[in-house]
Amino acid sequence: MSGVTNRVTLLHVCCGPCALVPVQTLREQEEEVVGLFTNPNIHGVEEYFKRREAVLQAAQNLDFPVICLDAEYDPRLFFQVVHGREDHRCPACYRLRLERAFAYAKEHGFSSVSTTLLYSIYQDRNAIVAIGRELADQTGIRFLDRDFRSGWQAGIDLSREWGLYRQSYCGCLYSELERRRKKLNRLADSSSPA
Ligand code: SF4
Repeated sequence: MSGVTNRVTLLHVCCGPCALVPVQTLREQEEEVVGLFTNPNIHGVEEYFKRREAVLQAAQNLDFPVICLDAEYDPRLFFQVVHGREDHRCPACYRLRLERAFAYAKEHGFSSVSTTLLYSIYQDRNAIVAIGRELADQTGIRFLDRDFRSGWQAGIDLSREWGLYRQSYCGCLYSELERRRKKLNRLADSSSPA
């Protein structure tokens, strides 16, 4: 896609369910939306495919174009940027994905960038907004720091109604480990000698 002009927002999309409310909201605000799926944080290639499929399903149901940078999917990029700060890794993870979105927007003539990360009540909105504004200053592309979180439950309901794949952890290896930690501890307790 090249030569996109005027009011077209490149929306970084982390997964299908999180895309629904941002796409609907931006359109209500008369922004045209193109999705960009670029998420090297996702742990597991199968998991990548599941989330990608859900994004395409959301795009089909809401009728918006989506670009998947599949050839660039490489979790080593994620591990490089969080190395040494694994316990405070999320801002580096946001930056990695937003930098790619802004670079893509610049290359292809989009007027603004936003992200579905601003929909999640579990993400650090202040950190996302600060990074987005910094990249906007650097590139001259607007960052739409809309707050999509009021649509949290509506997005969940719609994703369930449409049968979209809903992941059970944020994305990276560490978030999956955190989710499974209780079970790992239980197993360790039950298998330790009395
Ligand atoms: S928990 Fe989520 S936002 Fe934080 S580093 Fe992992 S995938 Fe990225």
